[in-house]
Amino acid sequence: AEEVGGGDKEVVKDYFNKSGFERWKKIYGETDDVNRVQRDIRLGHSKTVENVMKMLTDEGPLQGVSVCDAGCGTGCLAIPLAKEGAFVTAADISAAMVAEAEKQAKEQLQLSNGFSAGPVLPKFEVKDLESLDGKYDTVVCLDVLIHYPQSKADGMIAHLASLAENRLLISFAPKTLYYDVLKRIGELFPGPSKATRAYLHAEADVERALKKVGWRIRKRGLTTTQFYFSRLVEAVPAK
Ligand code: SAM
Repeated sequence: AEEVGGGDKEVVKDYFNKSGFERWKKIYGETDDVNRVQRDIRLGHSKTVENVMKMLTDEGPLQGVSVCDAGCGTGCLAIPLAKEGAFVTAADISAAMVAEAEKQAKEQLQLSNGFSAGPVLPKFEVKDLESLDGKYDTVVCLDVLIHYPQSKADGMIAHLASLAENRLLISFAPKTLYYDVLKRIGELFPGPSKATRAYLHAEADVERALKKVGWRIRKRGLTTTQFYFSRLVEAVPAK
C-alpha cells in the first residue's frame, strides 16, 4: 500500500509547479485569455471564496483571528482573509503557487507599516498538508480534496481537524453530481498533459471522517455553475 499522499502526491506537485500552475493561475486570475469552460470555473470558484468569507464573518470579525489556508493556490482566499485582518498562514505543496500567492498579496494588500493598523502579510510556506503543524483558530482547505482518493481523504481531514481549534472549512467536488461531472469531465480535464486525476467525494464520507475525530458539520453550502461543483462544509468540535 502507498503512503498517505504517496505517488499521487508527487504527480500533483509536479503538475501544480508546471502546466497546472499556468492553467490555474489563469483561471484564478482576471485576464481575458480564458476559454468558456475556464471562465465558468473562475466564476464558480469565486463564488466559493465569497461563501467562505460570508460563513466566516457571519460568526464575527476576523481581526486578529489565526487562519490556516491549506493548499492556498494563488492566494484567492488568503488575500481577502488578510484584508479582513486575519493572521493568515498560507501553505501549498507547489512552490510556484506559493510564490505567485506571495507576489499577489504584496501587490494587493495595503500592508501595515507597524505604526498604522492594516492587514498583515500572510505567512507563506511551501509544504504539503500533512506537514502542516501548529494550532489555528480556523483552518480552511478549498478545492484540494479533489486530489485525494477516498482512502487518503480521512487521514487528510483528521490532520486538518487536529490543527484547528474552533472551525474547519473544507470544499470538495460532490459525488452526487458524479454523472453530471462525468459528462463534462472531458472538457474539464482534456488530457493527461493538462491534468491530474480528479476524485469526487460523497458528503456522507466527509461527514463520517469528521465525526470520527469528534467534529460535526454546522453549516453547508453548495456552488454550482455549468462546469464547477463545490460542496462547502463548516465543521466545529462536536462536544
Ligand atoms: N485553495 C486554492 C483556491 O481555492 O484558490 C487552490 C485550489 S487548487 C484547485 C488546488 C491546490 O491544492 C493547488 O494549488 C495544489 O498545489 C494544492 N495541493 C494539492 N495537493 C496538495 C497537498 N497534498 N498539500 C498541499 N497542497 C496541495
